[in-house]
Amino acid sequence: MELEAALYKYFTYRSFRPLQKEIIETILSGQDTVALLPTGAGKSICFQLPALLMPGLTIVISPLIALMQDQVDSLLRRNIPATYISSTLSHTEVVQRIELLQLQKYKLLYIAPERLQHKKFLILCKQLQVSCIIIDEAHCISEWGHDFRPPYLQIASFIAELPHRPVIAAFTATATKHTLQEITESLKLRSPKIYVASFYRSNLHISVIHTTSFQLQEIAVLLLLKKHQGESGIIYVSTRTAAQNVCEMIKKYLSNQVSVGFYHGELAAQQRQYIQKLFMANKIDVIVATSAFGMGVDKANISFVIHFHFPGSIEAYYQEIGRAGRGGQPAQCYLLFNEKNQDIHETLQSQITSPAAQTHKLQRLEAMLAYTYTKKCRMQMILDYFNEQKSSKCNNCDSCIQPQFAQQPFFSALVSKKQCNEIQALHAWRLQLQKAHALSHYAEVLTDTQLLLAYVIQPNSEADFAKIPGCGRGWKIRWASHFLLKSDKIQV
Ligand code: ADP
Repeated sequence: MELEAALYKYFTYRSFRPLQKEIIETILSGQDTVALLPTGAGKSICFQLPALLMPGLTIVISPLIALMQDQVDSLLRRNIPATYISSTLSHTEVVQRIELLQLQKYKLLYIAPERLQHKKFLILCKQLQVSCIIIDEAHCISEWGHDFRPPYLQIASFIAELPHRPVIAAFTATATKHTLQEITESLKLRSPKIYVASFYRSNLHISVIHTTSFQLQEIAVLLLLKKHQGESGIIYVSTRTAAQNVCEMIKKYLSNQVSVGFYHGELAAQQRQYIQKLFMANKIDVIVATSAFGMGVDKANISFVIHFHFPGSIEAYYQEIGRAGRGGQPAQCYLLFNEKNQDIHETLQSQITSPAAQTHKLQRLEAMLAYTYTKKCRMQMILDYFNEQKSSKCNNCDSCIQPQFAQQPFFSALVSKKQCNEIQALHAWRLQLQKAHALSHYAEVLTDTQLLLAYVIQPNSEADFAKIPGCGRGWKIRWASHFLLKSDKIQV
């Protein structure tokens, strides 16, 4: 059968995306393969289709249970015989699935790398006809990488125990040249064909917003959420505590405007799944998460990603923003940079014992810092980091299109033109009040921070005003009626 016909038969897609066909042909020809394709490029089809066309079973090694479940569910919806074995299943369920595997009822089996260490699993695989082994999210092999998973290092020795060596293919969305080499060596690939797709995502508008305080970071998030009200987005933070705190902060100020949940690796598995499901089903607009969230998240309508803290590497950053705009629509990626957040990385750094690993981590952090300070095209800088040359500027990042922001007020990079005018109108109103009441400073009416918070909250009750720090009873008696009058006029 022609590959296009098979693609249509199983997946109802009419044509391949760039590199998909070449990768599938290589796997089908029996040659080991490494594919580095950006998030959203369509990696899954590259191994799912060959799995259906080859005799026997394809084992897919995947780092996350949620990821396996998602993929298996979507395959089953297409009537493709696939299953997974994981620690979340009951003993009876595992036994049933093993029996069906022995009866050759499945074409794809998803497992976590830890499963390879179970003796019983090796014995089972020796009885099965394993034609192909897929290593998904293969960058987890890299010991210096941000997603290192030690059991990934055991894959080669597991394969060596099998009676027949299957074809091996590794997939990832994030890898430098060095990581690709680590993948090839660790898996003991034999003359692999390496595919590297362009990392350029023309629909991502990337920008860095420099802030000088934690409070401004919070206000930036609130303004951005107001700008993107009703849209789906992710806010990445670097710590579990921050995930919870930022989520609570959003609930406090924008409870009637944005629905939000938080996600991190220490939550119980059930809770994580619950939040992820709510987000995937558009039941909540925004998820505040650590890097634990997102591997394999295939949600087409994520239109913005905000980094509350800057990540420790460009790899991590590009992978995380890659979750936006997967449906091809334009998407906004905002990195809130506050020098003080370096503490978080220093703490993580100090927890590493190996000097070599420390050096690697430091180098990656330095590249990230250079990225945040650059005046050059940011997309070009990212592509350069991944050894991809892009001769022309992207004309879509803040360096390319908004260099004037350097002279503009902090909030102008965070809001729409209309919102910017509304905030300016509040500024003008504040100055008028200062003059009319002969105040020595406008801050006696509202400080800049209070003004932005007032703009975000649109207070119209006692309780709302009380949310703005410093706007207590005395303030309310003096200024609240002025504010309400003004807000009506400018319809904030
Ligand atoms: P990746 O793993 O590379 O991030 P996925 O494999 O999850 O990407 O694919 C992203 C989306 O694109 C999925 O919804 C998938 O069904 C879809 N897709 C993949 N290949 C094609 C294709 N050839 N034509 C149309 N849609 C495709």
